[in-house]
Amino acid sequence: MSRFLSNKYASLEPYTPGEQPKTRVLTKLNTNESPFPPMPEVIEAVKKEAEILQLYPDPDCTELRKALAARFEVDTDMIICNNGSDETLYFAFLAYCDAGTPAVFPKLSYGFYPVFADITGISFREIPLKSDLSIDPQDYYDAGGTVFIANPNAPTGIPLSRNQIEDILKHNPGNVVVVDEAYVDFGTESAVPLTKLYDNLLVVQTFSKSRSMAGMRLGYGIASPEIISDLNALRYSTNPYNIDRLAIAAGVASLENDEVNKDHCRTVMENREYTVEQLKALGFEMTDSTANFIFVRHPGIGGDVLFQKLRERGVIIRHWFKPELNDYNRITIGSREQMDILLTEVKDVLKEAGI
Ligand code: PMP
Repeated sequence: MSRFLSNKYASLEPYTPGEQPKTRVLTKLNTNESPFPPMPEVIEAVKKEAEILQLYPDPDCTELRKALAARFEVDTDMIICNNGSDETLYFAFLAYCDAGTPAVFPKLSYGFYPVFADITGISFREIPLKSDLSIDPQDYYDAGGTVFIANPNAPTGIPLSRNQIEDILKHNPGNVVVVDEAYVDFGTESAVPLTKLYDNLLVVQTFSKSRSMAGMRLGYGIASPEIISDLNALRYSTNPYNIDRLAIAAGVASLENDEVNKDHCRTVMENREYTVEQLKALGFEMTDSTANFIFVRHPGIGGDVLFQKLRERGVIIRHWFKPELNDYNRITIGSREQMDILLTEVKDVLKEAGI
C-alpha cells in the first residue's frame, strides 16, 4: 500500500479468484481512432486465442505485462493492464481522491474527468488554461489534490515537455499526479522514464489510438510498484478478469510488431502537418497539436455550423455544444484519402457561405 491510498480503502480485502493456470459510408473523424486496421499478426493471434475462450484469462496479464515492461524498460510490477485507459483513470479516482483530496485538472481537458469525480462522489477543482489554451505548470504547484493532466491535452492537442511534467511532480510531493498519455505516440515526450524517480507519478497509456485497437479496450498504467499494488487492490475488488483473452493476445502481438505501429504514427503525423497547412491556407486557426487530432476554428463560420454542414456531406467531426467551445471543432487525423475528402467538403462549405 502506498502513502497515498485513501483511508476508505485501507482495509479492503480484495476478492481472490480461483487459480487459472496460466454502413461504413461516412468519413469518421470524430473519435480519434486510427485509420489503419489492426495488423495481420494481431488478427491471427486473436483468432488463435479464440479457440480457447472457454477458459478464463490470466488475471495478472503476465505475458502482456512482461512485453510492456520490456518495451518501456521498467519492472513488470510497475505495470497494470486495464480495460481501456478509462478504467485505469477510474481506478485512480477511486484510489487517490476522497473528501480531503479533491481531483484537480484543467478546465478544458478530457471530459471524462469531471464524470469520474461525480460518480466517485468527490469534489474537483478545474484550473483555467492560459489564453493560448496551453497549461501553465505553475498553476499546478501545491495543487492540494490528485492532479490529472492529459498530455498532450485534449481537445487542444498541446503538449507539456517532460521537464514541465517533472516540475509539477516536484511541486506535489504529497499527492499523486496522473499523466494521461492517450495520445503521446504522435509526437509528445512521455513521462514514463520519470516513474522510476517519482513515487507520486502514474502514467496512463492505451492501445486504442496509436496501436489501432480502440475496439479491443486495452489500456495500462505505469507507476511505482506501490501505486500499482493500490490499483490492483481495486481491480481485484471489482473485476479481476477485466482484460479478456483476445485483448491479451492482441496486445502481445501488437507489441511484438511495434515498429509497424510507429510507422503508422509517423504517417498520421505527416497527414496532420498536411491538413494543418491546407486548413491554414483556407483561413483556419488552430493550436499546435502533437496528437492525432487538431482543434480548429475559422473566423468566418461558427464551429457548430461547420460541424452540421460537414455532417450533411458525410464527414463527421467532433463539436461540443457548449457556449465556450462554439467556435471550435476537433478533427481526427485519418488517412490521406480521408483528409482529402475533409478538405474538399470544407472548401465546399466555405464557398457556400461566401468565404
Ligand atoms: N484519455 C483521453 C484524453 C482520451 O481522449 C481518451 C479517449 N476517449 C481516453 C483517455 C480513453 O481511451 P481508452 O479508454 O480507449 O484507452
